[in-house]
Amino acid sequence: MILIFLGPPGAGKGTQAKHIVDRYGVPQLSTGDMLRAAVAAKTPIGLKAKAIMDAGDLVSDEVVAAIVEERIEQDDCAGGFLLDGFPRTLPQAEMLDAMLEKKELALDAVVELRVDEAVLIDRLRSRIAETEARGEEIRKDDNEETFKKRLGVYQEQTAPLIPYYEKQGKLKVVDGMGSVEAVSAAIDAILDEFRGS
Ligand code: AMP
Repeated sequence: MILIFLGPPGAGKGTQAKHIVDRYGVPQLSTGDMLRAAVAAKTPIGLKAKAIMDAGDLVSDEVVAAIVEERIEQDDCAGGFLLDGFPRTLPQAEMLDAMLEKKELALDAVVELRVDEAVLIDRLRSRIAETEARGEEIRKDDNEETFKKRLGVYQEQTAPLIPYYEKQGKLKVVDGMGSVEAVSAAIDAILDEFRGS
């Protein structure tokens, strides 16, 4: 099963991705996590990506696509995978199509988590308050100003993927406004038909 998770920052992609990993046994490939690991390890890619990520901008299409291509060639991806945070631009979507075609793989579905922007900003404020209450550090790109920038980047660069995948007949829209359990159930209702593919 090859899936893409689409949705604005804070829509709950990470939380629901964990659910999909548990239920369907496919690995979660989060380009955000991979880039944060590269930043932490101070690799050449990480050193370049840090300032871009901190500002809420997008890392270059070529860099991200190369990271994904290398990752999907690993053994644990043989039975499929869930892309979380990639593709994020039309060129990335085209690169992914080419990559999959070359490997004779086919995308099963693109799950879009749809959530109102006002709800996302409320959720961000609670997340910041909870993180602070635990005495933990807040992600540099999780302050309100940068978050709004990331929402703008999503609308401009990532939202065009919605009609792109709709045209391919791959798009499945899930209402992301309910409880975590309700959203998981809505995702399961869609994905159970792809089980085993
Ligand atoms: P995320 O954890 O998915 O919100 O990603 C955090 C940051 O990593 C983003 O704001 C971007 O700077 C960068 N990033 C993650 N995935 C991509 C991607 N597919 N293309 C470009 N930049 C990305």
